[in-house]
Amino acid sequence: MLVTLNEILKETREKKYAVGAFNATDYLLGEAVIKAAEEANVPVIMMVPTPAFKVKQTPYLMQFILDRARKASVPVCMHLDHGKDFDIVMQAIHYGCSSVMFDGSLLPIEENLEKTKEIVKIAHACGVSVEAEIGHVPGSKNQPATGAPDESMYTDPEDAVMFVKETGVDALAVSIGTVHGAFVGEPKLDFDRLKKIREMVDVPLVLHGGSGLPEEDFRKCIELGISKINFFTELATAVSRAAYGVMKEKEGNIMWPDVSPTAEQAGIDAVKEQFRIFNTQPLHLN
Ligand SMILES: [Zn+2]
Repeated sequence: MLVTLNEILKETREKKYAVGAFNATDYLLGEAVIKAAEEANVPVIMMVPTPAFKVKQTPYLMQFILDRARKASVPVCMHLDHGKDFDIVMQAIHYGCSSVMFDGSLLPIEENLEKTKEIVKIAHACGVSVEAEIGHVPGSKNQPATGAPDESMYTDPEDAVMFVKETGVDALAVSIGTVHGAFVGEPKLDFDRLKKIREMVDVPLVLHGGSGLPEEDFRKCIELGISKINFFTELATAVSRAAYGVMKEKEGNIMWPDVSPTAEQAGIDAVKEQFRIFNTQPLHLN
């Protein structure tokens, strides 16, 4: 069933688990993520990354995943990841996302606040949840971060309180030392900062840039109040490696239908492993 971010995160803090959020950049990944959730009987967040909106086929991919989400035996939230401008966020709502992220984290905080507030007003009128970010989690596929982020990018707890109160967002992405893409060097998360934010802010908190963190860091983040964890780089790598392994074994003399089941299974296994690490629990909504 298709649910909002608000609904899917509602038991996370009380039951001490996080819901995994995985990017569906194509049909195979979308199917692998939902199948993994059904097999494990846990809720899952399916994310559509912003670059997908620049592709003409976006509405088709969205419709496929939405249809699959509605028919899923577990709660699925359809979420726009890193919507950087008003138009993309509105398109995501128009296409049927039940949740959107507006990412104004590189804007001056006043501008981020004003834009987020406007989006919250429209999204809530449409029954759609909103995630926003203050502080900034650096790095992307095209521009990987080179080590731990500068501390000036970390989320300020006082800013977080003010931002949540003023904007009415449903979830807040915080910067505590993670980066997008593969981590270069040793991650060192600021758990004290996370604890402080959790004590002061009452909406669910989101961790971006999950790939590359050791299992104990995930557990500690969840213990300290992280409710949603974005995870993609390692999933995409696992699927690609599995496909490459089959092709290499047959020295290239192989057809795609012989490769795709292996790739999909690798995706299912990688997602299920994160469910285990995130301690994700079954969720029963009326
Ligand atoms: Zn992110």
